[in-house]
Amino acid sequence: MSHNETEALLARWVRPEIRRLSAYHVADAEGLVKLDAMENPYHWPESLREEWLRLLGEAEINRYPHPQAPAVKEALRHAMGIPAQLPLVLGNGSDELIQMIAMTVGGAERTILSVEPSFVMYRMIATFLGMRYHGVPLKADFSLDLSALLAAVEQEQPAVIFLAYPNNPTGNLFAEEALLQVIEAAPGLVVIDEAYAPFTDVSFLPRLGQYDNLLVMRTVSKMGLAGLRLGLLAGPAPWLDEIEKTRLPYNINVLTQISAAFALRHQQVFDRQTREIRVEREALLAQLMRLDGVEALPSQANFILLRLTAGGATTVFERLRERGVLVKNLHGAHPLLAECLRVTVGTPEENAAFLAAFSASLDAR
Ligand SMILES: *Cc1c(COP(=O)(O)O)cnc(C)c1O
Repeated sequence: MSHNETEALLARWVRPEIRRLSAYHVADAEGLVKLDAMENPYHWPESLREEWLRLLGEAEINRYPHPQAPAVKEALRHAMGIPAQLPLVLGNGSDELIQMIAMTVGGAERTILSVEPSFVMYRMIATFLGMRYHGVPLKADFSLDLSALLAAVEQEQPAVIFLAYPNNPTGNLFAEEALLQVIEAAPGLVVIDEAYAPFTDVSFLPRLGQYDNLLVMRTVSKMGLAGLRLGLLAGPAPWLDEIEKTRLPYNINVLTQISAAFALRHQQVFDRQTREIRVEREALLAQLMRLDGVEALPSQANFILLRLTAGGATTVFERLRERGVLVKNLHGAHPLLAECLRVTVGTPEENAAFLAAFSASLDAR
């Protein structure tokens, strides 16, 4: 078959909105200090690793995994303080949960609404499923533009609203009072995405049950288990029963089930690590705030958003990489992110390496 024939086939059959997409880009971090993806930089203590490997050695990988993963749910409830009467739906990362929610309420005339800039998967998944997407711009200080948001909710009648709390890539928390107004005004679901819960003290989990359209989504990725791919959705049973129907039967594999249940039994290890990351975040922020030509934003997550007031984010991003440090370049992702970089908080050594490389890159600009 010739190249042209293949092209003709694709043009005929691949959905136009998929043809227009570019695949989610993950930068090559080989040999670099990796501060681009909000990963926890710490390993487990040696004794834990040995115990974990022993458990994995007994895994029955010839069998399908338990379809409900009850041990994982139990461990998540315990670790995150989720009441026993609230049901959970598990996803292969919270990315998959976003997809399951969208499949549950989807359709060509249905709208997913969020704010911008925020987590890009809300828009991408709307596109995958042929749904409409509406993004309401945040204010210049990245707070919610509540009147614009409420007007958009009224106008667009979204099937689901996703709000990241704290927000990615800005790191701030939206005002709780404003979010409650959105939940009350929404004609459909509101999902509070608490991916960064380990790095803040606030949560909408205690509000579950007060509203019949409120769901809270969490993940184990940012606390230190990104490799497992495990997210959870909590909320009123009637909604979760419907969303559960869209879950592929064995989406949480055997190795993930064993590893997550084991890791969460040692929650205090992760609590120590995330506390350490919070302390490091404040230290890094203080040092970044002292630099000229850079605006460093306070953060309730495990990353810091930087705006290079004097311009040249892309130049500095490249210089950083030449000096062996990978961060995320957000310039071009959204008008409000012009000249912005996002750096994940790493170990004290990684942060020091980043700071040194960053100062040098700024000076060389
Ligand atoms: C990282 C992130 C996620 C994705 O989490 P996974 O569980 O790893 O899929 C979801 N929401 C936000 C806001 C994130 O930043």
